[in-house]
Amino acid sequence: MRPNILFPIFSDVKILPGIGSKLEKILDLFIGKKIIDLLWHLPCGIINRNVVPSIEKARPGEVCTITLKVCRHVSSRTRNQPYRIFCEDDTGEIELIFFHSNSKYLKTILPIGCIKTVSGKVEPYMGKKQISHPDHIVDVKNANKIKKIEPIYPLTSGLTSKILLKSLSEALNKVPKLPEWQNKKWLMFKKWPSWDKAIKAVHSPHSEKDLDPLSPSRSRLAFDEILANQLALALVRRSQRAQIGREFIGKGYLLEKGKSNLSFDLTRSQEIALSDVCTDLESADRTMRILQGDVGSGKTVVAFLSMLKVIECGAQTALMAPTEVLARQHCKTIQDFAKNLKIEVALLTGRLRGKERSIVLEKIRNGSTKIIIGTHALFQDEVEFFDLGFAVIDEQHRFGVHQRLMLGSKGKGPVDILIMTATPIPRTLMLSCYSDLDTSKLIEKPSGRKPVETRIVPQDRIEKIFSRIRETLNNGSRIYWICPLVKESEKIDVSAATERCAILDRQFPNRVALLHGQMKSGEKNEAIKKFSKGEVDILVATTIVEVGIDVPEANIMVIEHAERFGLAQLHQLRGRVGRGRTNSFCLLVYGSPMSEIARSRLEIMRKTEDGFKIAEEDLRLRGSGEVLGTKQSGFPGYRLADLVKHNELLEIARDETKLILEKDPYLKSKRGEALKMLLYLFERDTVAKILGAG
Ligand code: ADP
Ligand code: MG
Repeated sequence: MRPNILFPIFSDVKILPGIGSKLEKILDLFIGKKIIDLLWHLPCGIINRNVVPSIEKARPGEVCTITLKVCRHVSSRTRNQPYRIFCEDDTGEIELIFFHSNSKYLKTILPIGCIKTVSGKVEPYMGKKQISHPDHIVDVKNANKIKKIEPIYPLTSGLTSKILLKSLSEALNKVPKLPEWQNKKWLMFKKWPSWDKAIKAVHSPHSEKDLDPLSPSRSRLAFDEILANQLALALVRRSQRAQIGREFIGKGYLLEKGKSNLSFDLTRSQEIALSDVCTDLESADRTMRILQGDVGSGKTVVAFLSMLKVIECGAQTALMAPTEVLARQHCKTIQDFAKNLKIEVALLTGRLRGKERSIVLEKIRNGSTKIIIGTHALFQDEVEFFDLGFAVIDEQHRFGVHQRLMLGSKGKGPVDILIMTATPIPRTLMLSCYSDLDTSKLIEKPSGRKPVETRIVPQDRIEKIFSRIRETLNNGSRIYWICPLVKESEKIDVSAATERCAILDRQFPNRVALLHGQMKSGEKNEAIKKFSKGEVDILVATTIVEVGIDVPEANIMVIEHAERFGLAQLHQLRGRVGRGRTNSFCLLVYGSPMSEIARSRLEIMRKTEDGFKIAEEDLRLRGSGEVLGTKQSGFPGYRLADLVKHNELLEIARDETKLILEKDPYLKSKRGEALKMLLYLFERDTVAKILGAG
């Protein structure tokens, strides 16, 4: 149970004065529902109100705090004209202007003849000075109540700075003093404040310097967050390992047979990964491994062969794919691998209905099907396994951390789990998010893969691209054409793709097919089939092709507005070509002008095909959230720590976690109790509960 002392900051924001249900909704969407969420919402800038000039000395463009006398009100004649209030001091005149404002209210707060102190940005207007909608209007005697340095927060529509400042000041009043969970010597060494002081300090910056992520207060909070996360991961890992897994030992004949059936030899890193997984499966500890490797590096084969080991021991295996298209693809691949092995493989998709479906479900229940392939959704509902021993989760680039353990409940005991991911995860992120898993990496591309030549081309050369394509089509090329990604709306993506498809279709009649996420799955499969059979040569698509379409003949990848994609995503997309015999190309088409950073990012793509390098660079250039696209997929992201800027803290926190758990494995000491508080503070409640029980 969450400690009582945290209750005030874990209350709902709506208990704060001034927050009604409308504002609560906005806050919930943008920041969070609880007071602690507000507290974690840090300023991104400051306004300096220390400039207190006379009207004459007030410089246009600057935020000024001016004491003035109200002279005259001029109401607006039309709705779009502002209400104007003329004011003066001994040195000159200035206008305060208000658009769409309540004149009655203005007359009350700025009556003619009164002296007021106002603060806001001075702007030039027809040779005169004005302030539109001053931020503060107070009586002179209260002038010192205007904060000299005011923090600026990220805002959203419906949430004004004024409301946020007010709520935050209330929220800060509720901040309790908490027992110290950090090592005190370390705190002293770093000159970091206590938690409550730090949280108050970050909300009252005195200068730009205080906004630096490496400032003492911000570093302290970031380190708290990182430590909480590391501790949580370590504890989860420990409790998972403590569950006895099954020992799949067997003679290994099925695996050997499966291997010798393949039409190729495994690469060295495939061999190593396979032996890693087999060792895990044999051991009594539960298998919890992540297999990293680029698209096409041959993860599926490794997964398949590991499954054979489990099947030989009599248990069932499952493969979860992130999309239906991919599930289908996996099924085809695996059926192919499993030829001559007399193993029943079943595909379980949403399209499977009626009698066929009940037959498949029955075979899963009675144990005759040994390999079951489907999507996440399908494993959630009515599927009952006879004896599931091993689950492979193909996450591709989607990080379903929460789904990680879902299949666990489908077996008799803890199910062994192997996660495959095609997103090369930089070391930094590996440490911060996956340190509960063992890792294997596939580093070589399978033999026969050719390098892809990448070029960066401006959008205005699109005609030229058309004419090049005309040539290559005559030489038998097959082309993926990826359309601009507009984050806000899938609908817009789709219409862009549809439009591009129409244009290409005019240029190359009957040779173009369209593929996007809003098509029915039958239509999607139809488009993919046409393209893979060569009935059409150009597949115009949204990023949907990123996930697992395998057409070896495709040798050209055109990506429009490449500058809008994440590097990881570009890398995935490019991985779709270079699979066949012919030379492959990737054209990164950009809309100009392009920023310096955007250009360096595309340059990285041009220079290397090494996914890990690309991921590291992307992380360096853009920050962590975007590398993984995690903001969308519910990754347990960091709110305070910046994995690039606080990289060093990450390593320190990891070592610290080790020390803590060696000395005090169940967090029973005084500091241990405080560390439990830390876990609750960062909402790792489940983990804290594990401890409570143990
Ligand atoms: P991933 O799952 O990592 O994207 P796959 O396992 O689907 O990659 O492999 C991609 C393709 O490469 C498949 O057609 C597979 O048969 C082939 N392949 C896998 N390993 C090798 C290898 N060692 N040598 C040659 N081809 C391989
Ligand atoms: Mg695959």
